[in-house]
Amino acid sequence: MVTSKRIALFGGTFDPVHIGHTMVASAAAEHIGADKVIFVPARRSPLKDSLPGASDIDRFNMISLAIDDDKNFEVSDCELKREYPSYTIDTIRHFRSELSGEVSIYWLIGADGIGELSRWYKVEELIDECSLSVMYRAGFEKPDFEKFLPLWGRRRIEKLRENIIPTPLVDISSTQVRQRLAAGLGVAQVLNPQVLRYIQEKNLYR
Ligand code: ATP
Repeated sequence: MVTSKRIALFGGTFDPVHIGHTMVASAAAEHIGADKVIFVPARRSPLKDSLPGASDIDRFNMISLAIDDDKNFEVSDCELKREYPSYTIDTIRHFRSELSGEVSIYWLIGADGIGELSRWYKVEELIDECSLSVMYRAGFEKPDFEKFLPLWGRRRIEKLRENIIPTPLVDISSTQVRQRLAAGLGVAQVLNPQVLRYIQEKNLYR
């Protein structure tokens, strides 16, 4: 039997990438049976008011360091090269045309992102064109899409529900990491050692 390739795309600001990101990405890849997870750092979120603390290139470099040891992880600069604002649907279509052959594309988001989903650009097309996969996140409710039923219809709600990924709860956020660094507190337990060294050498988030 020929099964199609499965690729998981993991978008975000990654300011900076922390072990919560890599742990849930591994768990999601295993759950999906994905051949690869591609981290896709955003230039900036169209839904976040503030600019990232670290530059595009620094955020990209930190992801490269964080995933160095995992042969199933990659990082793409496709959103960093695109004009602002960049939308997820454009990224899905970019990879759809880039990846040859039959491929199933999964877009990973943490459960904290559910509240904003209805504001995403062309979200219905996004739900139709990929497997939008919501992962559990510590401190947030288990994913529930029922409130979107009047907006998106039963078929899409069922698809979202089927694609939920019960990832382990890892209580870490980039906001916490930035705050701890700014306060001079330790972050060694939540960052890849190479990422921590990069932050220290470049004096980021001070
Ligand atoms: P910030 O605190 O700056 O908002 P963040 O830690 O949420 O950052 P992002 O770069 O915004 O990190 O996250 C990228 C994606 O990873 C988002 O979909 C987010 O929901 C998810 N994510 C981040 N941290 C976790 C975590 N600990 N568990 C599950 N999902 C996570």
